[in-house]
Amino acid sequence: MRYEAPIFRPPSEANSYIFQATIGCSWNNCTYCQMYRSKTFRVRPLAETLEDIALAGQSMGPRVQKVFVADGDALVLDMEHWRAILRACRGAFPRLRQVSCYAMASNILAKTPGELAELRGLGLTMLYIGPESGDEVTLRRLAKQPRPAGASRDAAYIYDCHVAASLRARDAGMKRSAIFLLGAGGVERSAEHAAGSARLATEMDPDYLAALTLTVVEGTPLARTQERLGWVLPDVMGLLRELRVFVAEAQPTDALFRTNHASNYLPLGGRLPQDGPAMAALIDRALSGGIALRPEWARGL
Ligand code: SF4
Repeated sequence: MRYEAPIFRPPSEANSYIFQATIGCSWNNCTYCQMYRSKTFRVRPLAETLEDIALAGQSMGPRVQKVFVADGDALVLDMEHWRAILRACRGAFPRLRQVSCYAMASNILAKTPGELAELRGLGLTMLYIGPESGDEVTLRRLAKQPRPAGASRDAAYIYDCHVAASLRARDAGMKRSAIFLLGAGGVERSAEHAAGSARLATEMDPDYLAALTLTVVEGTPLARTQERLGWVLPDVMGLLRELRVFVAEAQPTDALFRTNHASNYLPLGGRLPQDGPAMAALIDRALSGGIALRPEWARGL
């Protein structure tokens, strides 16, 4: 098994076998993201990827139940790659029950409904999609995904892509986890970011929802905006207020919601919408100082 660091995965993939079918992110341009800036995007040669899967199968085949295909937007792979990878995983891991990857909305929309259904049938059962915000101004500022030549100039373009992509994946039978980023709108767009994110979470109607907290990382375009234009990240209380709006207003059909990522100040878990009021009450207690928050030193990206 060969890895090209750094490797990232969602918290819920901690026990998964991870391999890289791609290196880096095909977009690599979101203004806050530093994850793959040290890498030039490329698709690994298929033979090399299949060799990794075969080696993993020999050393831990029956123990592997979940596989996460890295790096940043592995759904960008063409169908030929995906078919071969998913068949190899099925052959190598007899107890396999989930294959997942990160996906941009544009990656999903680049596949037809029939192609997504085929991938689902071959075992790609879960996609992690990170719109980060449902505020159209914030989405544009984050440069959340490419806007292909000829695409709509409508302000809601990126928002609409996320709704359409999530519903297309749902209709193909895939589970979807949607990730939002507290603080992504800065102080200026904090209210719009919180309300818009709840609205987008409702419209994407995912099976899983997560909120992370933005850290401005040195060297990113966002860090330069912070320096030069005075962009300001909300303080801890402002971030908690965004979280409160989100849990109170997001109305997916039934989604497991977590803030267990190390970047968050207040770990929460429950189902939305039914546990929304209880989680909002907990946030109120935190806002009034009744619950200890994760200290800065214990937070991570
Ligand atoms: S799509 Fe994801 S990995 Fe790629 S630049 Fe944006 S946040 Fe980073």
